Parts: sequence; structure tokens; C-alpha cells
Amino acid sequence: MPAKSGIQKLKIILDSVSRFACTELQIFIKNIPMKEEQAGLYIHIPFCLSKCGYCSFYSIKSVDLIPEYIAALKKEIKHYRNVFSSFDTIYIGGGTPSLLSTGQIDDLFSTINKYFDIDRKAEITIEVNPGDVSLEYLQALRKSGINRLNIGIQSFDDKILRFLERRHSSKEAIAAIKAAKAAGFDNLGVDLIYGVHGLGIKSWKNTLQKAVSFAPEHISCYQLSLDDRTPLYKKYSSEGWKLPDENTELKLFFTTADVLENAGYLHYEVSNFARLDKFKSRHNQKYWQHVPYLGLGPAAHSFLGNKRWWNKATVKTYLNEIAAGKMPVEDMENLSTDQLQLEALFLGLRTKAGINLKRYKTRYGIDLLVDKKTIIDALIKNKLVELKNGFLRPTRAGMAVADSLALI
Ligand code: SF4
Repeated sequence: MPAKSGIQKLKIILDSVSRFACTELQIFIKNIPMKEEQAGLYIHIPFCLSKCGYCSFYSIKSVDLIPEYIAALKKEIKHYRNVFSSFDTIYIGGGTPSLLSTGQIDDLFSTINKYFDIDRKAEITIEVNPGDVSLEYLQALRKSGINRLNIGIQSFDDKILRFLERRHSSKEAIAAIKAAKAAGFDNLGVDLIYGVHGLGIKSWKNTLQKAVSFAPEHISCYQLSLDDRTPLYKKYSSEGWKLPDENTELKLFFTTADVLENAGYLHYEVSNFARLDKFKSRHNQKYWQHVPYLGLGPAAHSFLGNKRWWNKATVKTYLNEIAAGKMPVEDMENLSTDQLQLEALFLGLRTKAGINLKRYKTRYGIDLLVDKKTIIDALIKNKLVELKNGFLRPTRAGMAVADSLALI
């Protein structure tokens, strides 16, 4: 569905941080050169009943604040009514969005629908924790228009789940997948973690095969990384355990790609696999392609034109700012063309599709094949990237070292 009144309505500049103190969002329409693209909406739910041992994301346990938080989100949604006009993806992430009641979710959707046009074919995703979801709950989510479910399974092995300090069991993980299917979700994603102490390549293969046996439409596989503030980091340090070395990392990466590709999945981004093209996460692709997005809630980031801005990080400061009639924005940055093109290179080379060279040149003014000729030739020679149909794309070996490729 086209935007209400065209790209002009989408062009804003949040002039300076001090202006965010105003009761109304300060909007300055300027000529930001950008294509008219449908924006994505992200809503952050920063509550978790307990903290997983490896998690460094901000979340709090005070679920009694959820009603106040929903009311604040509704005000934040309203603030942006003249900035963004329509969305074709909505992603409710966390934290643990499945701590919201279906009534609270419906309440959010009615506010979103009141102020924005939501594409008839919008991809609407919610992340859920396996321990929270009954068949009735999932049926109600489906009824409220959510058409994509992402379940934080992480492992089918109770020992690993306990090690990671997840609060669900493998039995609950399987029950959640079955209930999601029974509730009519036909776009189901599962998240898995590898590189965990005690989870060798063989057990990881079993985990993948178990996931494949349920034929989810999407599988995300993340390698465990440990922030030094997390309890699991401290445990690793005190026990003298190590995260996988580079060779093991590569083996795990190739094993993942082998098992899932053999099962028919498309390896479309370093950590992401989809059963068919149409099941690739449309929302996440916006982040990778510099398509505008609005993020609501503490620490949520937004992007439009060449501006990126982000909210204050804690629930308390977020609620206080909204209660005082202010925008909860922490800061913003104007991304230079150099920064944008570097980001596009970094994100593009993490995807199988790679970088559309013509689009890249039009958008960032750089002809990669001329500007980076020597290094691209060397990468092609080493079979890390290839040129195909106007795209510069990583090979599978290139995807395994995608983050270094972008340093070209
Ligand atoms: S449920 Fe997710 S966000 Fe919450 S503590 Fe665990 S990993 Fe972190």
C-alpha cells in the first residue's frame, strides 16, 4: 500500500538532542535523498521473568510495570504519526514479548492501526518464549493479525538449556512448536544457539536435525558469545572453559550450513536460513538494506534517510520521559555517505544475495568494482566472493568470514 502522502511525509530531521525535550516531536521536513520504501516498525518489550546466563541485553523482571509500559508505548506511537505513515513489517521483540497478555497486544495494534496504514500483506512477527505459550494464547495471537512466530528454542537438550539458564525445558520447546502449528502459524521461526560448552559437533548436528524434523519455515543459528558482565562469562572464566577456537567455529558454521542446506533450507544470511524465499525475514532485511524503520521502547533504534536515533536505555527513564510529555530519545547521528556505504558493505556481504552493484553506486556514489578493484580481484581469486548478475556476493567460505570481508 502506498504511503499516505508520499515521501515528503517520511522526510524528517530530528534537529538536535535538546529539541527532544519538547512536548511534541520536532519535525523538520528536508530534502533527504531516499527512495520511497515501506518502513518497518519494531516494538521492544524489555521484560524477562529471569535472566539467561549468557544474555547481555537490557531487560528487567518488574512485570508489574507492563501496563504502564504499554500506555507509554501507545503515546510514543502517537508521537510518530506525522513522521512515518505506513509499515509493511512489524516486529515485536524483546526481552520477552510473550509476557504480554493478548489484550495488551490487541491494545497496541489498535493504536498502531489508528495512526498508521499497515499493509494488507504485512509481515507481523512476535518473539515468544516456549514456556509461556498455550494453544489458546497462540490462537489469540493469530487472531490479532500476527502471522509470523519466532520461538526462542535455543536447544532441545535439557542439559544445555539449564546450562544457559533458560527457563523452559525441551518438552516445552517441542510443545510450543506443535501448538504454534495447531494455532495456524504457517510462518514459524526457531532460534538455536551453538558453540556452547559441552555441545560438540555431533550434538549440534542432532539439535539441527531435531529442529528440521519440525520443518519450521525459518531457522536462526547464533554462535554463543559472552559479554564479560554476564554470569556465564564468569562461570567460563572460573572453570577455565573457552569459547570455540577459530577452527572449531568454522567447523560449526559449515556443519550448520551443510545440515540445513541438505534439508532444503536457503542460507540467506550468515545466521539465517529459510525454507523458501518468501520465508526470509522481511523485517530483518530492512535493517540490512538501509530501509527506514521506527523502533519504539527503551534503547530501540530508528533509521530514516541518513539519520539514526535511539531511545534512552532503561524502562525507568523511558517511562519518566514519556510521562513528562517528552520524547525518550537519547541521541541521534547523521550518518555520512562514507559511514552508510561501509555499513552497506558490511551488511551486504553477510547476505547470500550480496551487494547490488548498480544500486550501491546510485545510492552511495561509489563504484565498488573500480574503487576496490585490487582487493575484490584478490577475494575472487581466493574464492571468498563472486560476481554474478551485477551482484558482488560472498561464497559460502566468504560467508564464514563475512565480518572480515567487509574490512576491504
Ligand atoms: S529471554 Fe532473551 S532477552 Fe530475556 S534474558 Fe533470556 S536471552 Fe535475554
